[in-house]
Amino acid sequence: MKCAVSHNCGGCLGPHLSYRDHLAQKQREMEALLGRFCPVAPILGMEDPYHYRNKSIATFAQDRSGKLVSGIYAQGTHRVIPVEDCCLQMEVLNRTQAAVLSAARRCRLPAYQEDRGQGLLRHCVVRCDSQGQKALVTLVTPSSYFPGSRNFCKELTRLAPWVAGVVQSINPRATSAVLGKTFKTLWGKPFLEDTLLGLRFTLSSGSFYQVNPRQTRRLYETALDFAALDGTQTVLDAYCGIGTIGLSAAPRAGEVSGVELNPAAARDAAANARRNGAENARFYQGDATAWMEEQARRGPSPQVVILDPPRASTTSRFISAVQDMGPDRVVYVSCGPQTLARDLEGFAAAGYRPVKCQPVDMFPFTPHTEVVVLLEREKGSAPARRRRPSSGQAPAPL
Ligand code: SAH
Repeated sequence: MKCAVSHNCGGCLGPHLSYRDHLAQKQREMEALLGRFCPVAPILGMEDPYHYRNKSIATFAQDRSGKLVSGIYAQGTHRVIPVEDCCLQMEVLNRTQAAVLSAARRCRLPAYQEDRGQGLLRHCVVRCDSQGQKALVTLVTPSSYFPGSRNFCKELTRLAPWVAGVVQSINPRATSAVLGKTFKTLWGKPFLEDTLLGLRFTLSSGSFYQVNPRQTRRLYETALDFAALDGTQTVLDAYCGIGTIGLSAAPRAGEVSGVELNPAAARDAAANARRNGAENARFYQGDATAWMEEQARRGPSPQVVILDPPRASTTSRFISAVQDMGPDRVVYVSCGPQTLARDLEGFAAAGYRPVKCQPVDMFPFTPHTEVVVLLEREKGSAPARRRRPSSGQAPAPL
């Protein structure tokens, strides 16, 4: 596929590469990293590896003539290259970003200038549902000040009637995180609704959601297959986001409990449980390690632990808490195979043997690979059952 900006855009490795070669390279990398632990199954690639992303992030700037532009930073710089037609993003996202730019130009909204600390628009994050029918627009500004926001929303929704909501995210900090911690609804609904594996999910602007819906289905099916649920087990879903894995597991489990640090995502997870009638699922807000340690103290022990931590991975204390609980199976979903390899050593020392590993190409034409690993408790290795005093009150589900 041809891309007009791939020679200097830092968004991907370039869609002109042969996808087959690229997949073969990812397979070799996964075997080199993980092959010493267990067999690595052939990577699940995409039949059509284009227009897969359901989330687009654009940065605003002003060109030399002062005209507002939006796009992606050039590789290794803070120079914005206008991107009109990204072939990794779903088409509705490209159309929505174009509409946001037109509406912002028409309303004469200025870009934020990092060096001077002046201006308004920093980034625009657009998410869409798996069908590409609805979009949620989040505009990042340095403060809550947003003159003309009402006119902007009117103009945007005229140009892009598929926009379901416009949210402002306030991020005064100059960090690599795009979104700030405070959100304000400017127009419409401050969330997006989507369907995945027959379940309905609501997600807020700041909640994590897998970016490749076509492959997410295969990722979750692999995780559930590895979990080997028979309708009776207690399942813990750690780093659960909006509860997608836990709620997919719920119909085949006895009980599901999930934990998530981001308060909005944890609330989304609890609401998603109610909306899907999953009476056997409960969600908690908190740090996964602290929560696991508390679960290990209080019992009863789960039979299956599923974890899907961020790229920086989990903690050695989390692994010790798993050892204390002694589930039969651990299903580790990882977007950071390097940190995963380190954790697999920790799990092996805790009596959990990696049995099989399935790479899934969630991010074609980027260097990233997602992996699901099944670990089983070694026969004869009993749960450690170290008794530690409880920290006080039992955590309350949302
Ligand atoms: N399983 C979910 C989310 C995976 S992404 C899905 O498939 O959609 C990892 C999630 O871990 C994010 O939602 C992030 O907010 C959360 N997270 C990050 N650090 C955490 C911590 N210390 N404790 C609990 N959750 C954490």
